[in-house]
Amino acid sequence: MLVVVGVAYVAVTYQRHAIAVEVERGLLEGLDSEVEVISRFISAGGTTLPEMGTATNRRMTLIAVDGTVLADSTSDPQWFDNHAARPEIVAARRDGSGHSRRISDSIGGLHLYAAKRLPDGRFLRISAPLKVESQLAETLSLPVIASTVLVLVIGGGLMLFQAARIRLRLAELDEVARAFSAGGFERRASLAGQDAIARLGHELNHLGERLQGSLEQIAGQRRLLDGALGALSEGVACIDRLDRVVYANPAWVALAADGAPVIDQPFYHHLQAAALSAAVGEHRAGRKIAEIQGFMHLRRHLRASVADGGAGVLVLVLHDLSEVRRLELARRDFLSSVSHELKTPLTAILGFTDTLLDGVIESDPVIARDFVGRIGRHADRLANLVRDVLTLSRLEQGTWEMRPEQVDLNDLVQEVIDDQKDYGLDRGIEIVWESAKSLPACLDAEILRQVVGNLVSNAVRYNRPHGKVWITIAEVPGDRVSIAVADNGIGVPLEHRERIFERFYRVDAHRSRQTGGTGLGLAIVKHLVQSMGGTVTFQPRAEEGSIFTVVVPINLPMRPVASAH
Ligand code: ADP
Repeated sequence: MLVVVGVAYVAVTYQRHAIAVEVERGLLEGLDSEVEVISRFISAGGTTLPEMGTATNRRMTLIAVDGTVLADSTSDPQWFDNHAARPEIVAARRDGSGHSRRISDSIGGLHLYAAKRLPDGRFLRISAPLKVESQLAETLSLPVIASTVLVLVIGGGLMLFQAARIRLRLAELDEVARAFSAGGFERRASLAGQDAIARLGHELNHLGERLQGSLEQIAGQRRLLDGALGALSEGVACIDRLDRVVYANPAWVALAADGAPVIDQPFYHHLQAAALSAAVGEHRAGRKIAEIQGFMHLRRHLRASVADGGAGVLVLVLHDLSEVRRLELARRDFLSSVSHELKTPLTAILGFTDTLLDGVIESDPVIARDFVGRIGRHADRLANLVRDVLTLSRLEQGTWEMRPEQVDLNDLVQEVIDDQKDYGLDRGIEIVWESAKSLPACLDAEILRQVVGNLVSNAVRYNRPHGKVWITIAEVPGDRVSIAVADNGIGVPLEHRERIFERFYRVDAHRSRQTGGTGLGLAIVKHLVQSMGGTVTFQPRAEEGSIFTVVVPINLPMRPVASAH
């Protein structure tokens, strides 16, 4: 606003000055022509100066060659001093006519003077006060000034309004651009119109839309990649030229750093494996390594591979071989255990056969009969062993298929007890079972029969003379049933409890063999129960003995199955 007022003031001053100059110039011209006309009158000896002055409303002075005032239209000439030095007289003497603009020595006030040298050497001078003309100039210039000020104020106001509007719109564009640079591509400029700023705004909006689209696409691809790499069991990491990890999937973080942060640190800080570091070095030197030796890290068997990820990035992949190794070891253990288990009865059978063939059959038929009985028991053991090994291997291969059928669990348990009763009675062991109300279920009865049979058999075999076995069935929320087989037998010592479900694990191998055990019963039970979608647990009995509890779903969907067990 100050600028507008300043500009208005300068314009008004300039206007006033221009008008004053113009008025002064017009006045001078008037004075010149008046002096011209009146000098003719004077020369012709016409009217006197006072008359002329009154007629023209001008002050007129007649001055002698030496500067003495001869006559004056306003005052008595005797009151005037010599006018020879007056600028207009000096100029008229020199050039014939002259002008001057000054404050009058005689009557005061700013005046304009026009003088002319008459043919007789005298001078005629006409003067007019300039004040009147200045006022006239002021009066004349007032509307012009007012309109100028008005135009300037309106123009200035419009200019300011327009400038403010442009500033606001540019500020909005600036905000949008800043938002973009900070990653806020959803921000839009709300600009209407067709001018350059609006077009810029539209371009910016368009740019934002495209960037947002690209960003969403990239984020989508990133999510997809993260999902895919996150689901991998192999650890994947990308390292930059300085070996720093720039990306790592969850498996890498777990395998290489046990869950500790890895991003931005050199991979060898959390994964000290000479074979891998050497392979990375070789790769960077342009020599590809066919296979990197396996290594141990955080008690795991790992194998790594290195691949080029482009732009100086290397992709490291970690394979966890621990499970494979464990399975290999387990298989080896199993094979050696099976061989060992087979070897004992086979050696015994061979020994008894040799002895029999050496002549015992003929010489001592009683001993021979006893030997044949022993051979038979060892052959039974072999048969049991082969049966259990086959069962286990089928279970592990997953070729065992469920055959759910409608069955009453009371009937099923009763059948198992009937099978085991004689064996129990032989050892003076009582099986206590209170048949409850009928309990219909849909499950693989054959499997459950085998499971319960195995547990009852163990409860009898690892019991004391005249011991007891209790069987209880209870419904469990969630359409399940729990079958508990408890005994007051020898129990399982604390240090063995964790391992009794392992293959060939026995607390007392001799007792197991003596009673026809293979060491595979509980391992088979565990597999069978798991394949039914249930659980089996061991608990020591409070007083003495053991409790094995099986919990299984009782409402499996029926489905037609072609293959038999
Ligand atoms: P086994 O053929 O030797 O009985 P299992 O796998 O059935 O093999 O059982 C593994 C071991 O668990 C047995 O050798 C025995 O030591 C122990 N065990 C199983 N059931 C009982 C039980 N009811 N009471 C005491 N010990 C048991």
